Amino acid sequence: MSDSNFHYRGRFAPSPTGQLHFGSLVTAVASYLEARSQKGDWLVRIEDIDELRNIPGSADDILRTLERYGFEWDDDILYQTRRKQIYEDVLQALIDKKLIYRCICSRKDLRENNEMGQQGLAYPGTCEDKNHPEDIAHALRIRTSNQIIEFSDAIMGVYTQNLKQEIGDFIIRRRDGLFAYQLAVVIDDAFQNITHVVRGVDLLDSTPRQIFLQQHLSYTQPAYAHLPVAVDAQGDKISKHNGSGGIDQYKPVPALFAALRFLGQQPDPALTKASLNTIWQWALEHWNMNKIPAIEKIPYTD
Ligand code: GLU
Repeated sequence: MSDSNFHYRGRFAPSPTGQLHFGSLVTAVASYLEARSQKGDWLVRIEDIDELRNIPGSADDILRTLERYGFEWDDDILYQTRRKQIYEDVLQALIDKKLIYRCICSRKDLRENNEMGQQGLAYPGTCEDKNHPEDIAHALRIRTSNQIIEFSDAIMGVYTQNLKQEIGDFIIRRRDGLFAYQLAVVIDDAFQNITHVVRGVDLLDSTPRQIFLQQHLSYTQPAYAHLPVAVDAQGDKISKHNGSGGIDQYKPVPALFAALRFLGQQPDPALTKASLNTIWQWALEHWNMNKIPAIEKIPYTD
């Protein structure tokens, strides 16, 4: 791709598992400002593929909050639950390449047999050569290889992972029939021509799995930037699930100010009393990704 043809496309991909909270606001703000400062597009994708975790009404709720906060997105919103046939077709292509096998390991089997990898337990390939029949409840895994996957993260620096040893063959379709996030996100980033992924550092160790899939599917690899995540006093990520990090749906300015500060942007204190337009204008003019601290966890108290 020549430089003159290059067009930045970023995205924000919340899972509809609760209201927009401070942690996801930080991701929205960083991905948005980076895209807009590059004169690029910014897309919103609702990652509702894990239907067991979706909370009814929360996708609309997140979108309304984004609107109230002054975000403007490009293109139509993509909903993963409407794309199952596409995921099925891509899965079939991986099956045709003999990369997929059935796995009948229970959670207990996994706990007992998995080996210690970089990110906890790595799947040791127990079912790899078993050729289990189709009619037994099974998940589908993809065969990984003993090769090091390396990429340079715009914030966290060079990251390497030996997929086979540190993660093991990973799940593409779960035993309950739902497609795994790793597959859906890779297909959708490619489908939406996403050139830059900006998201929380809790997904850093998923990135080699995604690059591995991109390689097998001949997709272009986007650039990655992983942001520090906001943690509570115990060092746990604040999330929709533990109920912390709530933001006022109707008072965007203080939360945006806090997000900019969290991202190392040193907003002028006068901005706490500014209008929504003014704070966005300031943010866009002063946005500098290099100021984001290259640390994984930053305490946040609301
Ligand atoms: N849906 C994921 C989340 O809400 C984000 C996935 C991604 O950005 O790749 O945490």
